[in-house]
Amino acid sequence: MKRVVSKEMYRVAQNLIPGGVNSPVRTFRAVDDFPAFIERGKGSCIWDVDGNKYIDYIMSWGAVVLGHAHDEVVDSVCEAARKGFGFGTATQGESVLAERILSAFPAMDLLRFVSSGTEACMTAIRLARGYTKRDKLIKFTGNYHGHSDSLLVAAGSGLATLSIPSSTGVPQSFIENTLVAPFNNLNYVKELFQQHKGQIAAIIVEPFVGNAGFIRPNKGFLEGLRELCTDHGALLIFDEVMTGFRLCWGGAQTLLNIAPDLTTLGKVIGGGLPIAALGGKGEIMSHLAPLGSVYQAGTLSGNPIAVASGIKTLEILGKEDSYAKLSQITQKLLNGILEAASQNGIKVQADGEGGMFGIFFAQEHVESFEDAKRSDLEMFKAFFKGVFNRGVYWAPSLFEAGFLSLAHSDADIVKTVQVIHDVFREMKQ
Ligand SMILES: *Cc1c(COP(=O)(O)O)cnc(C)c1O
Repeated sequence: MKRVVSKEMYRVAQNLIPGGVNSPVRTFRAVDDFPAFIERGKGSCIWDVDGNKYIDYIMSWGAVVLGHAHDEVVDSVCEAARKGFGFGTATQGESVLAERILSAFPAMDLLRFVSSGTEACMTAIRLARGYTKRDKLIKFTGNYHGHSDSLLVAAGSGLATLSIPSSTGVPQSFIENTLVAPFNNLNYVKELFQQHKGQIAAIIVEPFVGNAGFIRPNKGFLEGLRELCTDHGALLIFDEVMTGFRLCWGGAQTLLNIAPDLTTLGKVIGGGLPIAALGGKGEIMSHLAPLGSVYQAGTLSGNPIAVASGIKTLEILGKEDSYAKLSQITQKLLNGILEAASQNGIKVQADGEGGMFGIFFAQEHVESFEDAKRSDLEMFKAFFKGVFNRGVYWAPSLFEAGFLSLAHSDADIVKTVQVIHDVFREMKQ
């Protein structure tokens, strides 16, 4: 596919913005490529500035669950915009969206809106520390919880992609209270609780990992974390910024029937506009300012345009058959990938849940970031290049999940599977 205009725009952008992008994975550097500059999107498809059309499997990293520029959401957003962009004070829409989210998450009594997943996770950690009066925190390798200092340890997503083990500019003292365990390794976590008795404030975990590729929790792992937290007086934080309203109505905690103490949400709850949230038991949440002593605030928090997008998105997504449809097309895609792989003698793992999925070119079952890193990067690069040049917009990194929307049709999947078939055949040669 010709990307002449994109290439020129990328050149210009690099003189203005570090790396030409406002979030590192967008450079496509991990797959030795450069970005297509996108002009517009509609439904399951996006068009770049050279006029190329792609079937999109990134969907604004999962946020645009109804598809791009959904007519009803666009109308709601325009209507809200005409009333003013924001007032920095209370509006009724915030309660409408809060009520809708709380009704989907039985473990949450109260929630607070913020503007990004990073903020939600950062605040959840501060709240857990303030509430338990302890400092230490357990996170998992390859899990990404945004870019706040104390969480930039062994993080996934762009950090995995660019092989930055943690970031420079983070003082050692900021992370010395962050303990890191391998995902799906309950004994390791038990050990940490033994070594740091009475000091661990919280465990934060992506219940289904989406920032190291897609990794499913083993049976008993999250249940075990719940038990350990309860036994040791630590809080369990589910980072459902990606999985909330994506795996099912109510996220991973509903799917697995596990009640975390705190939950963070983002992406889908804004339908593509910047809004995120943290929520949990009233007893814990009431430690947040202005009720309690844990401080948090935001000029743009609960922005009325983002709230309007979230309300309309969840209203449409809340219809009865949404998740059955998301799951069905995801499974159709995964089955197609597996069949194309087996026909071409390519070893691939494909797994997914709800509207989220991932593939690894791996010999053995991937259940941790360490396993994911052992999968075949060169195969992934060849795969990426092949599908991208044939109009399938895939995450430009091994360490990112893929996303479908309600706008993806059976025809989209058939076309995508055909493309993948051709790419696999080419890779085999
Ligand atoms: C995207 C993501 C974040 C960070 O959210 P931002 O809005 O990018 O700050 C945090 N946690 C998880 C699991 C995510 O997928």
